[in-house]
Amino acid sequence: MTIDDAPREALRGGPRELLRWVATGAAVSRADLSRLSGLSPSTVSQRVEALINQGLLEETGAGRSRGGRRPRQLAVPTGGAVVGAIDLGAHHARIGTLDLSGRVVQARTLPVRIEDGPETVLGRLLAEVTALAGSDPAAGGAAGALRGIGIGIPGPVQHSTGRIVSPSRMPGWNGFDVAAFCADHVDVPVIVDNDANLMALGAHRTAHAELDHAVYIKAGTGIGSGVISSGRLHRGAQGSAGDISHCRVVADPAPLCSCGNAGCLEAVASGAALVTALREQGVPVDDLTGVLRLIDDGDRHATALARQAGRAIGEILAVVVNFFNPQVVAIGGRLADCEPLLASMRATLYERCLPLATQTLLIERVATGQDVGITGAAHLVIDHVVAAHP
Ligand SMILES: [Zn+2]
Repeated sequence: MTIDDAPREALRGGPRELLRWVATGAAVSRADLSRLSGLSPSTVSQRVEALINQGLLEETGAGRSRGGRRPRQLAVPTGGAVVGAIDLGAHHARIGTLDLSGRVVQARTLPVRIEDGPETVLGRLLAEVTALAGSDPAAGGAAGALRGIGIGIPGPVQHSTGRIVSPSRMPGWNGFDVAAFCADHVDVPVIVDNDANLMALGAHRTAHAELDHAVYIKAGTGIGSGVISSGRLHRGAQGSAGDISHCRVVADPAPLCSCGNAGCLEAVASGAALVTALREQGVPVDDLTGVLRLIDDGDRHATALARQAGRAIGEILAVVVNFFNPQVVAIGGRLADCEPLLASMRATLYERCLPLATQTLLIERVATGQDVGITGAAHLVIDHVVAAHP
C-alpha cells in the first residue's frame, strides 16, 4: 500500500497534514501540531525535524529572551523552493510557480493551439514553466529550486501511466505518454492528471479542506468532474472516476457526440455543444465567449440552450449526489458564470435528489478563479514531494 492508498485515519498527523496545517495557518508551533493531531510532542518533533531537513518547513524565533525561551514559530519557506504548474486548455494554458504552501508566486496565460500536437505544445510549456521558475524572485533566481511540475490535461488521463486515452477535441494526443515525454525533457518529477481533478483538488484545498466529501463540476469547452472522497482525490481504478462527459441525458433531438453515441452530456451541455447548437439554429457565433455574450444580452435562443444545459448537468449530478452523498457540489469553468444554466442545474438537483442528500448540501460556484487549476497541480506535486520523504 502506498501512502496514496492509505485510509485518511492513518494519515492523521502524517507529514502532509502537518505541512498543510502550517501552510494554512492552523498551526504555528509544535504545540499546535500536537494538539491538532493528537500525537505526542516527541512524535510531532520527530516529524517536524524531518520536514525541516527536507527544506519543507522552517523554524524561526528560536533563542532565549528574558523570562525563558521564546516559542519557536513554524512556517512554510517562501524562498528557495517552488513548484511548477501547467493547466492546459483547448486555446490557452495557465502556467505558474507556487510556493510549498500552494500560494501562487507567478502566473501567466499563454495562447496554445492544441491541434499542434503534444510534442510542440508540451515542449513549449515545459520550457516556459522552467524559465519562469528560473526567474522566480521567491526561488532566488535558481532553477534548481524547482521541486516538480504538475500538469492538467483537458482529457482522460490513465493515472498509473500518465497516458492520455481517447480525448475529445485533441487530435494527435490519443495514447500520448505525457509522463515519459516530460521525463525526457525535465529533471524534476512531473505529475499528470486531468483538468477536472486539478480543479477539484485546488478548490477543495483552498475553500473546503475541512469537508471530506465533495464533487466539483468543470464546465467549459468540455465538461467533466472531480471527486473528493474521505478528504482525498478519488481517481478509481484507472483514473477515469468522475468523468461524466459521456453519461446519457434526456435530449430531443439527441445530438451526436464525438464518442459515436448520441445524447452524451458533453454533446448537450458543454461550451462546445452550445456553440454548435447555436450555429445549427442559424445564430452566427464564433466561440464560447460569443455564446456567453448572447446570454448576457438576453438572446432567447442562447438562453434556452443554457437552461437545457443546466437541466442536463443537474440530471447527471442528481444521480451522483444520490449515490455519493457529498457535503458540497461546486461548479467551475467558464459556464459557471452563466446564471440561467446555474439556476436550472440547481432546480433539477433539488427536484431529483433525496431530501436527505440535499438537506445540508452546499451548492456553489468555485470561487478560486483562473488559478484554481495550477493550485491543484501544485498540490499534487507538494503531496508527492512530502510523500517521498515519509
Ligand atoms: Zn459521448
